[in-house]
Amino acid sequence: MHFETRCVHVGVDKDSAYNSCITPIYPTSTFRWDDLETNRGYDYTRSGNPTRAALEENLASLEGGTACRATSTGMSAITTVMHMFRPGDHLIAGNDLYGGTFRLFYNVFSEYGLKFSFVDMSRPEAVREAVRPETKCIWIETPSNPLLYCTDMAAISEIAREAGAITVADNTFLSPYLQRPMDHGVDIVMHSTTKYLNGHSDVVGGAVITRTPEHDEKVAYIVNALGLACSPFDAWLVLRGVKTLGPRMEAHQRSTRAVAEMLDGHPKVERVYWPGLASHPHHELAKRQQSGFGAMLSFDVKGGRPEAEKVLYGTKLFQLAESLGGVESLLEYPETMSHASMTAEARKAAGITEKTIRVSVGIEHPDDLVADLRKALE
Ligand SMILES: *Cc1c(COP(=O)(O)O)cnc(C)c1O
Repeated sequence: MHFETRCVHVGVDKDSAYNSCITPIYPTSTFRWDDLETNRGYDYTRSGNPTRAALEENLASLEGGTACRATSTGMSAITTVMHMFRPGDHLIAGNDLYGGTFRLFYNVFSEYGLKFSFVDMSRPEAVREAVRPETKCIWIETPSNPLLYCTDMAAISEIAREAGAITVADNTFLSPYLQRPMDHGVDIVMHSTTKYLNGHSDVVGGAVITRTPEHDEKVAYIVNALGLACSPFDAWLVLRGVKTLGPRMEAHQRSTRAVAEMLDGHPKVERVYWPGLASHPHHELAKRQQSGFGAMLSFDVKGGRPEAEKVLYGTKLFQLAESLGGVESLLEYPETMSHASMTAEARKAAGITEKTIRVSVGIEHPDDLVADLRKALE
């Protein structure tokens, strides 16, 4: 089946009682046993739930994995993966990670004995140099946040294989419609389903997708033991959102190209970061490993914070808010918002300045979005 068809159909058939076309929400904490040895596949909702299982089947299929565990947030998906490692293990990650991921690695898990190196992931040789005998994982986030730098997943997976480490990709920024990391050798894919997979800014959630029984067994054990699974209602919302993933991503991209091209030629804009522009340093790599350029972009205004503020306060359609991947357009200021949890030095190293504005382009008509942003700039 094609991708768009799987979005609509995989996993949804869960009602043997009434043949409802839509997966029911099973908001039960517990399930009755038929006898002391037999239940109908579920016993307690922390461990498993039919609505959540429907979402998990669907997402595993979309990413090309064999299993998925849906979690309460993107951060709990990352927390799950981190519990696959032991004190003393070394992990390599990008120096321009999602701010919350950086905080979790740098402030929380390093206190529990995990060791991290933050490197420029767009340079495979920098990753190779960071490998140590105790390296167990290379963490990939591509395109990165907020400057949309891309990581060569095939090259990094090869380095990891040689080092006896696994690769994990945070695929939140593109969704499996535009990028499937497992096709490039990545072992585990995680998502903040809060973003494109749900797509309507009305739920927070996460997912971990695996492709070996050993990894799935570990992930399932951790999600149950730590109590990180999502509620049946949240799973139902994401399953509902994911059905339109393909058409939404097409609409997102159409508007993004229009916005990026307007910004690219605008006299008040110093630089645009969008992999779809030929001027982006990773345009060729993005063309090779993605099937589209996505709907996240950033730009530097000429001047500094006062000029950035004019844009951030001057739009009507683009709302000033964190997060991304919803049908409505948002813009935000990484310096004080999405990346405030990074240290000032880390922000500087990642190239985030007081001129930088990040945009999540929604699915509104491109002409309206272009006009709104142009007005704010002028
Ligand atoms: C939002 C986000 C997360 C965290 O997800 P939550 O659902 O907010 O917990 C992780 N990685 C990326 C790339 C994100 O955009």
